[in-house]
Amino acid sequence: MDETVRRDPGAHRVLTGDRPTGPLHLGHYFGSLRNRVRLQRLGVEMFLVIPDYQVITDRDVADRLAEHTENLVLDYLATGIDADRATIFTHSAVPALNQLLLPFLSLVSVAELHRNPTVKDEIAHSSQSAVNGLMLTYPVHQAADILFCKADLVPVGKDQLPHLEVSRTVARRFNERYPHPDGRTVFPRPRALLDAAPLLLGTDGGKMSKSRGNSIPLGADEDTTARLLKGAKTDTDRRITYDPATRPEVSNLVLLAALCQDRTPEEVAEEIGDGGAAALKRTVTEAVNEHLRPIRARRADFAADRGHLRDVLRAGNERANTIADATLAEVREVMGSL
Ligand code: ATP
Ligand code: MG
Repeated sequence: MDETVRRDPGAHRVLTGDRPTGPLHLGHYFGSLRNRVRLQRLGVEMFLVIPDYQVITDRDVADRLAEHTENLVLDYLATGIDADRATIFTHSAVPALNQLLLPFLSLVSVAELHRNPTVKDEIAHSSQSAVNGLMLTYPVHQAADILFCKADLVPVGKDQLPHLEVSRTVARRFNERYPHPDGRTVFPRPRALLDAAPLLLGTDGGKMSKSRGNSIPLGADEDTTARLLKGAKTDTDRRITYDPATRPEVSNLVLLAALCQDRTPEEVAEEIGDGGAAALKRTVTEAVNEHLRPIRARRADFAADRGHLRDVLRAGNERANTIADATLAEVREVMGSL
């Protein structure tokens, strides 16, 4: 964690989130969730958006939306997010946040929207035959998610870096175009915080993703975890090494074991040596199951009270609305009450 945050956690605000498209996985955990919990424990205020409109960027209907949303809250609480100090909300429940999208869209060009490499990748994996407008504009929607609460820290995976650039551009252009009468700027320029595994690979060797059938869910049981990891792609070289550039799949598994055991990937690779992919997978499975055991136990406890999960969301939506209303009022003021 960087020193400026540690010195004055109260001066910062975090916003990040996850699409309600399925259960959270190890990529989320080592890419962003752990960092969120650390930041919250330091005393940084935490906003977690569940961007439900984003679900219909790459598919026709948002399937099992309420269930996925509640399960995200469950995963947050299980991994250590303190619901009493965090604002967990769905962006569709916060109208003023969505209204920010209108002025924000006027600040970016169509060419800029088309150039975004993450959007291109998501279009390639989309189940739709044509690209819809929401897909192309969702990085700007994300700028509204981040800027409505004036967050300056965004713990995310590597796929989100191009989007963070959009948010920074929107903030800068807005501040330049609409100076505040008293001289201060309306929006901070948010920055991404990457964690130890900014791009964890899934069992097929591509980015681990909820909706690509290649993930190890945090809430999976131990046997399912073992089965999924057994099917992970590796290579034919028996000697296990850590070399992400030339052996991405094997190195990804080595990294996963190392993160779970709080060791270096080199140590893990050295220990497995000539044991081959089977030994590597046994080590990873044990490491993952052991690391997740307390999280899964907490998850089971929280899962017993679905009403509590809904209450957490209701309170979060209420607080997010209060903040979004205030930001929108400020935006309308500097824009001359559009
Ligand atoms: P979907 O398949 O629905 O897009 P996803 O698994 O990509 O789901 P998102 O909700 O899109 O998850 O992303 C939530 C957050 O988790 C983002 O900050 C993203 O960067 C991070 N993240 C997602 N997948 C990974 C991964 N494999 N490694 C590291 N970070 C990840
Ligand atoms: Mg994604």
